[in-house]
Amino acid sequence: MADNATKSMDDIMALCKRRGFIFQASEIYGGINGFWDYGPLGAQLKKNLRDAWWTDVVMLGAGGQMGPDGKPVEIVPLDSCIIQNPKVWEASGHVGGFNDPMVTDKSTPDGRRFRADHLQGIYRYSDPLKRTTDTIDTAGGEPTLKMHSEVAIPNATVIASGPDEAVSLLESDKSLQKIVGIKSIGKTGYSEGYQFGVLVMADFGKGPEKALITTTNLALRFYPDLVPSPFTGKIGGLSEPRAFNLMNHTFTGAVFNEDNKVYLRPETAQGIFINFKNVVDSTRVALPFGIAQTGKAFRNEVTPRNFTFRSREFEQMEIEFFCHPDDSKAWYVFWRDWRMAWWQGIGLEGENLILREHDEGELAHYAKEGAGTSDIEYKFPFTAPGYGELEGIADRTDFDLKQHQEHSKKKMEYHDKTRGELAKNGQPKGEWYLPHVIEPSAGLDRGVLAILCEAYTPDPDRASGVYMKFHPRISPIKAAVFPLVKKDGMPEIAEPLFAELRKRFGHLGTIEYDEKQSIGKRYARMDEAGCPFCFTIDSETLTDQTVTVRDRDTLEQSRLAIDQVGDFLAGKLGV
Ligand code: ATP
Repeated sequence: MADNATKSMDDIMALCKRRGFIFQASEIYGGINGFWDYGPLGAQLKKNLRDAWWTDVVMLGAGGQMGPDGKPVEIVPLDSCIIQNPKVWEASGHVGGFNDPMVTDKSTPDGRRFRADHLQGIYRYSDPLKRTTDTIDTAGGEPTLKMHSEVAIPNATVIASGPDEAVSLLESDKSLQKIVGIKSIGKTGYSEGYQFGVLVMADFGKGPEKALITTTNLALRFYPDLVPSPFTGKIGGLSEPRAFNLMNHTFTGAVFNEDNKVYLRPETAQGIFINFKNVVDSTRVALPFGIAQTGKAFRNEVTPRNFTFRSREFEQMEIEFFCHPDDSKAWYVFWRDWRMAWWQGIGLEGENLILREHDEGELAHYAKEGAGTSDIEYKFPFTAPGYGELEGIADRTDFDLKQHQEHSKKKMEYHDKTRGELAKNGQPKGEWYLPHVIEPSAGLDRGVLAILCEAYTPDPDRASGVYMKFHPRISPIKAAVFPLVKKDGMPEIAEPLFAELRKRFGHLGTIEYDEKQSIGKRYARMDEAGCPFCFTIDSETLTDQTVTVRDRDTLEQSRLAIDQVGDFLAGKLGV
């Protein structure tokens, strides 16, 4: 596994375009910021990842293992609408609370807006306003500060840099915590949007003062007078941060007015909560059980960036697992650990993947103290040495069902016939309660991006200079069949082999047939596409019915009887 810090995101994006994994949406019209289209290879890669999730989560029930109760894990699927009654989003808290702190930049002619937490950057130097220009990312028209930006506060002296030092100083200085207004800072928090802080001693106009400056939304203190505009570089143009709702809206019905305003869902989860009763009443599921769905979500991200990582339209894969409140801890641990193992099992097995438990200061609005929340994070080339979130696992308690019960006035409680006091007949009387929910919520696009970054393997000894080392289960192309030359009866042998493999494995991914160009060029193309095995019909095939098998990773070429190719591939694909 190559170190992602050494991989170039520009190179990865160039390969994605060249080979048809991902294109800028509306490219011929200059693109549209925050939207991406998947090309033929990308669409298949994305489908393979979604299918792997669906198979393992829904059809096998958490990979077929036993839950903490010693029983098989029950999950049923759902496919709910993108547009729901707007009351759903009032109940969920998204209308009132799904906000990012925004800053308006009056030094720009059109009053551009930026996310305050992205603006702050990391302040490291005592040189007056030393700022390196390469910290500004203007791709897509909305400039943002890149990670590890080097913007300075006048007269600032760094007294701690890096999380450990900052944390120990914070912990030992209660007055300091008051000044910066934060509860805690993650010791391992090097993730996207959760950069480490630096403690500085600085003069903000009222004498020397200690302050913690970070790029995170944990840094609640914002200094409009000291932070330069990321666009013009001028100081003094930024407003105080104001809340900005991330939900996209549109109108439904004949008249476009406030009464007909609806929202595009910012998460798939709420579609599950509002159907909880329907599922219980229409199936034979009994608690504990989960409901899972995949689908598009929309967020009007203020600064979409880092390729598909932060897009305005993206796809989620979410599970809401309902259980008795007493069992929520055990189920939280179960899901957290299994979800981590799952990502490892599809090719993210190295140290680029970490599991990070949240600190209390990071708890989401629905989470209660002590309830578990963790992120599975990946070290993307653009976050390295930090990490970016792939999936969040949260104990949402009964927050959502309670909210919907209150707002809809429909009872969401579950009647558990296995609990309660024993009746005279020796059977439990039953217990009514609002289930607690464990939510493993993954981003499909971020998953694809992590897999692309992980697979990208520069190799100067190959004709292609790089190959994509996809796990065979996820690889968009499963195998390629090549006649060495387009004559001597070789295509006549290759075509039936191609047809046989496509019939047997075509539901898993593409089987490629190619007889154009030199064999070296065809191998190079397959290396960039990440095809794990190429089968070549050559002159030896004509005499002994064997084919050349080329292994993408080892570059080993071995011979295999042509009638064994199907079983060989089945073994490699694990089917
Ligand atoms: P972030 O902190 O990165 O904004 P989040 O904590 O708001 O993410 P969740 O609301 O927990 O994200 O959404 C679950 C998953 O959906 C995330 O783990 C991520 O994989 C994916 N996701 C969220 N926002 C985006 C986005 N703008 N673009 C692509 N994927 C996203």
